[in-house]
Amino acid sequence: MSLFNDLSKFGLNNLDDMDIMEDKKPSTNTKAAQAPQLTIDDLLYLKKHSCPVCGKLILHPALRAGKNRLIRTDDDLKVTYSIADPILYDVVHCECGYTALSKTFPNLLPSQVKLVNESICKTFKSLNLPQVRTIEDSIDLYKLALVNTVIKKGKNMEKGIICLRIAWLYRDLQDIDNEKIYLENAYKCFKQSLNTETLPILDMDFSRTTYLVAILSYKCGYYDESHRMVSTLLLDKRTNIKIRNRALDLLEKLKPLITKK
Ligand SMILES: [Zn+2]
Repeated sequence: MSLFNDLSKFGLNNLDDMDIMEDKKPSTNTKAAQAPQLTIDDLLYLKKHSCPVCGKLILHPALRAGKNRLIRTDDDLKVTYSIADPILYDVVHCECGYTALSKTFPNLLPSQVKLVNESICKTFKSLNLPQVRTIEDSIDLYKLALVNTVIKKGKNMEKGIICLRIAWLYRDLQDIDNEKIYLENAYKCFKQSLNTETLPILDMDFSRTTYLVAILSYKCGYYDESHRMVSTLLLDKRTNIKIRNRALDLLEKLKPLITKK
């Protein structure tokens, strides 16, 4: 299945078969129901950004931290909050088509501006996005961010983070097939990042990235590789206690799968 078989609605017809790897090397917010005393409207505010591609001022909906409490963290580090999912608001989109994670949005080289202009902006059809984002809105935006990252020749780490978040959003929709496709691509991008890029990148250090490769390769059925990554983490004295404990949990799940071989 193509990662981008539904891009034509953005006017980006020619990019369906694009490979996200470099050669060289998440409805109205359902979480709101869990905390009836506060709603998404209490957390939302508009943050100003200037688009590095077209120069326009963007008012991007963002979430105030604080009252949005952490409820749980899944084994692949997906977090669930009491009121709203911050992931839904962590992509900044300009009507010219340029779209990126909020941390990377302002940082474009002149050569990247040119690439985005030529491959995205020329044919982009603007979106009509509500301020309160649905999971489906966010999946569209993260796919646009992924296309932009490939076009601007961005880092594998950035592509991995975007793919992992798309997988999480499909998990929220209980769309297992699409979740699997994006988990597998996140795994490939993080692995490539570990092998070719200097970490930390975007708050992802060696331990966290190695753990994600371990848990994602486990979820994709690559048990031997997962076991190697867990061993690396457990032998490395720099691995912090939280990641070490998660690696030990994963080791328990892997034991019966490894001995079968
Ligand atoms: Zn723009």
